[in-house]
Amino acid sequence: MSRVFVLDANKQPLSPVHPGRARVLLTQRKAAVFRRYPFTIILKDVPLSREANPLRLKIDPGSKTTGIALVNDSTGEVVFAAELVHRADVIAKGLEQRRTVRRGRRQRKTRYRKPRFANRCRGKNWLAPSLESRVVNVLTWVKRLMRLCPITALSLELVKFDLQQMEHPEISGVEYQQGTLYGYELRQYLLEKWDRTCSYCGTKGVPLQVEHIRAKVRGGTDRISNLCLACEACNQAKGAQDIRVFLIEKPDVLARILAQAKAPLKDASAVNTTRWTLYGRLKSMGLPVECGSGGLTQFNRTQRTLPKSHWIDAACVGTSTPVSLKIAGVVPFLIAATGHGSRQKCNVNEIGFPRSSPKGAKKVKGFQTGDLVRATVTTGSKQGVYVGRVLVRASGSFDIRTRAGRVQGISYRFCTPIHRCDGYSFQKGVPYAQEDPVQSAS
Ligand SMILES: [Zn+2]
Repeated sequence: MSRVFVLDANKQPLSPVHPGRARVLLTQRKAAVFRRYPFTIILKDVPLSREANPLRLKIDPGSKTTGIALVNDSTGEVVFAAELVHRADVIAKGLEQRRTVRRGRRQRKTRYRKPRFANRCRGKNWLAPSLESRVVNVLTWVKRLMRLCPITALSLELVKFDLQQMEHPEISGVEYQQGTLYGYELRQYLLEKWDRTCSYCGTKGVPLQVEHIRAKVRGGTDRISNLCLACEACNQAKGAQDIRVFLIEKPDVLARILAQAKAPLKDASAVNTTRWTLYGRLKSMGLPVECGSGGLTQFNRTQRTLPKSHWIDAACVGTSTPVSLKIAGVVPFLIAATGHGSRQKCNVNEIGFPRSSPKGAKKVKGFQTGDLVRATVTTGSKQGVYVGRVLVRASGSFDIRTRAGRVQGISYRFCTPIHRCDGYSFQKGVPYAQEDPVQSAS
């Protein structure tokens, strides 16, 4: 069951409570709503005894979506779960557009000026803006959650696979065994080595099976250098055939597979810059950070027979994962990064020519585009109650984006803020039920 965050009167975090308990506290007026997203209440007094209920914040960073789970290590309960959707592609696209506009303008206006684009340098730990945004999004939420509940430890999936001391699995001859922890690590290694594609037909984004290049019935071993990845169709088509027979019409593919099978993965630690940067910055926050591998996460999840989803993966990160995870009734909180608007002073057309007057002030009558408001309209033709994100105009006549659609021309006087725009949008996920496992694309 997803719990409700509680702060005491001094805004110090207390253990999250059951939603029913929170409702009682609110109706008895012993608490007030502090924040809507994530739902947090604030007590009107400071409790005499603070029951210590340390929580572990677990993170599974992904390129599109990052899974977040708050786990009580002693009881195995998942107290809170979230999925954070990044906006890396939006950032990359925006920068590309800005670059195009600037290049075009320089071409037109300063054609004869000496180039001076090479007069700047990047810091040592520089990350591309799209990657940086992922790191910053995660850190923002770690900091927010630390203010809302007592977090004493962090867990992070740092690498895809962990082959420990074994630097060259191809040479040292480790064998693949399905279902063991080592098997999961090796599977992740194979995925990385073969770039998550079917070795035979090159298909991406389909479930891949571990494939023996020399079939076991023909005396092939389980050694890593005899394994590749194949989609279901190719695996069936090849069967126990000799690879030279199977690929008789594709000599180039055959040569590539045979060469790649022998070649060990260049960097066995599969360094992922973004994750290491995240690790470094999380460590500087002063909490102990436990690191896990993708193989271990998958192993933990399979052992506990849990379905795949980002937040469940997060709950399974690291060796600290409790033997049984209590996740029944958990409603994942879906967070999407939306950014904080644009720094562009006015809109431009496709060749970079200004097509509107400069932007006005960001705040109008105390509201900002993106604030979640409730408008209770009592006069005029639009009488009624509207809840949604607001779009402000300097005139004070706002638009409200409700679930039913956009309502235009609502005066600021009817609006009350529910949640201020903070760079993220929120949604409730599908509650986890044992019978109906949450289906999610990886
Ligand atoms: Zn295939």
